Amino acid sequence: MKIVETIQEVRDQVKEWRKQGLTVGLVPTMGYLHEGHKSLIDCAVAENDRVVVSVFVNPMQFGPKEDLASYPRDLDRDAAVCESAGAALVFHPEPSEMYHDDFSSFVDMSTLTGGLCGKTRPIHFRGVCTVVSKLFNIVVPDKAYFGQKDAQQLAVIRHMVSDLNFGIEIVGCPIVREEDGLAKSSRNTYLSEEERRAALILSQSLKKGKALLETGETDAAKLRAVIANTLATEPLAKVDYVEVVGWDTLEPVESINGPILTAIAVYIGKTRLIDNFIWQKETR
Ligand code: AMP
Repeated sequence: MKIVETIQEVRDQVKEWRKQGLTVGLVPTMGYLHEGHKSLIDCAVAENDRVVVSVFVNPMQFGPKEDLASYPRDLDRDAAVCESAGAALVFHPEPSEMYHDDFSSFVDMSTLTGGLCGKTRPIHFRGVCTVVSKLFNIVVPDKAYFGQKDAQQLAVIRHMVSDLNFGIEIVGCPIVREEDGLAKSSRNTYLSEEERRAALILSQSLKKGKALLETGETDAAKLRAVIANTLATEPLAKVDYVEVVGWDTLEPVESINGPILTAIAVYIGKTRLIDNFIWQKETR
């Protein structure tokens, strides 16, 4: 496995693979890899001849008061995870390699990005769409892999690929959780022992929501209420949002008919955590 820092090295390597007729998968990450990321790499390795993992903490998707500086980084460990999972190339650029001084072009989206995480993170998806477009143009993969953990991001990327005619298949992968239910996240490392225990309330509240849907409930307000009431039992939890939206539009729904996304964002202390589930009536 190679680790490279420049766009040219990625292009040269992919060109070489293409000459050999090999297929290429891309897994974009911000590093500090865990089992969730590894599940994406595993899936990519199973479906492509060669896999590129990008490890880049993208400054453009962080707001001025967010955790860009403190975001955890450990390239050696990340490289070991990628190698053991069977990736062929790690792309780890410096911000200056991705954004030269006079960088001034952005990919923005007028739907899907205003609600959910877009409310508290107004510039986030512009940063995500821009960096993912750049990665798509640099690697030109056949397939790219994204986690349902960031469900809004997955929907936004799928929409962008359709709007801008990227000839790339987007593969969504299920949420990987700790044994006790907490969704794996690089940001879980911020949690103190007490906060880590409190963070369980996210997955527990969603579980209660799912249980309600299993009784045949179709009222979205009742679903939101059961989740919000459960979150309210945890003193360390401060709710950012509890939303029930259509999985295609990401707009709030009143009654649950088609596929819906139930998504939450909750501060545990200073750490903002997200979790969700997608529900399709017919597959329950
Ligand atoms: P990040 O490094 O947080 O930008 O995440 C990189 C990719 O890994 C994104 O597509 C995430 O959705 C995905 N990912 C992060 N955590 C998980 C998880 N617990 N399960 C599945 N995918 C995940």
